[in-house]
Amino acid sequence: MKRPKFIKKLSLPWNIKGLSWVFSPFSHDVGIDLGTANTLVWVGGKGIVIREPSVIARNKKTREILAIGSSAKRMLGRAPASIETIRPLRDGVIADFDATAEMLTHYIKKVHESGGAIPKIPRPRVVIGIPSGVTEVERRAVADAALSAGASTAHLVEEPMAAAVGAGLSIEDPEGKFIVDIGGGTAEIATISLGGIVLGRSIRIAGDEMDEAIVNYVRLKYSLMIGLPTAEEVKINIGTCRPKRDKYFVVRGRDLETGLPKSIKLSSTEVSEALLPIIQEIITIVVEVLEETPPELVSDISQTGIVMAGGGSLLGGIDKLVSEKTRMPVVVANDPLTCVVRGCGKVLEDGRLLSKIKVTQGL
Ligand code: ADP
Ligand code: MG
Repeated sequence: MKRPKFIKKLSLPWNIKGLSWVFSPFSHDVGIDLGTANTLVWVGGKGIVIREPSVIARNKKTREILAIGSSAKRMLGRAPASIETIRPLRDGVIADFDATAEMLTHYIKKVHESGGAIPKIPRPRVVIGIPSGVTEVERRAVADAALSAGASTAHLVEEPMAAAVGAGLSIEDPEGKFIVDIGGGTAEIATISLGGIVLGRSIRIAGDEMDEAIVNYVRLKYSLMIGLPTAEEVKINIGTCRPKRDKYFVVRGRDLETGLPKSIKLSSTEVSEALLPIIQEIITIVVEVLEETPPELVSDISQTGIVMAGGGSLLGGIDKLVSEKTRMPVVVANDPLTCVVRGCGKVLEDGRLLSKIKVTQGL
């Protein structure tokens, strides 16, 4: 006997493929920017829900996790010997896999478990942006950590791609795009065309080196030892490539001659002197990548301009300096610190784009 049409229709959602359709209205897609300095989490329908430093504090002996995120960052340089504060992705490679996995698990669980009355049933699809220097083995391990934290699928995308998508570039076009993402531990420089990275470099010269340069400058010029968090504050407050009008910032540290506390007033001119060698190194690599880029793409890039993202692109005047040295127009992306995570969110909403740019998939 022929089956009536309506039965066929009714049975549709119960086949395996239909199940994901049935559950999808409840599930939260989750995008994560696993940055060397900051971890950001985007949730479908909500936007960016977590923005925390990529820092974890744990007991050295028992390895018990004591704090994750900003509370752990406050312990940096202040913790007793029994506590270690770790930046698990510091140099753009996964230096401490356990700590990375703990951090990832913590954030996925946090969004997964805070959904309201029936939160725990749906397992989120997760897209994670990772520095492009991370090896295939490490990527697999990150995907596995996301899966064991409750993700139904975990896709990994490279940060420059996610940053380009987040900056609103149509990366699938044949026209070349150029991204410079200056983060904490790494700067990622990439030429993108037809949905792929044509040329890319991930260098370990970025925001952290700028902080170290300020520490060294103050030590040499004033015999004053300041901490890295203080140097970062200086950089964010008065850091610039070329000061127009001097701004000042008072720093406290330890006088290396007397061993006693001392404070000095730093000017933005001094900070720019300290930062210049680092900026120059980054720009040298940008120029190298441009030189290696095929001429057709260079010609496209000279139209659209170099797009800058990441916290380092907020440094005063860096866009103008890059523009001068490359003779290309330069634009800083809107809200450069959130580009990567917004890009992860966008690819979650566009399955075709995701399948094109993901580098690793965990199921
Ligand atoms: P990552 O992707 O590696 O996590 P981010 O893109 O979040 O890095 O950028 C963090 C870096 O940007 C840090 O080194 C931070 O000090 C730096 N940063 C943040 N704001 C500014 C600013 N206004 N000027 C200069 N550097 C900044
Ligand atoms: Mg980043």
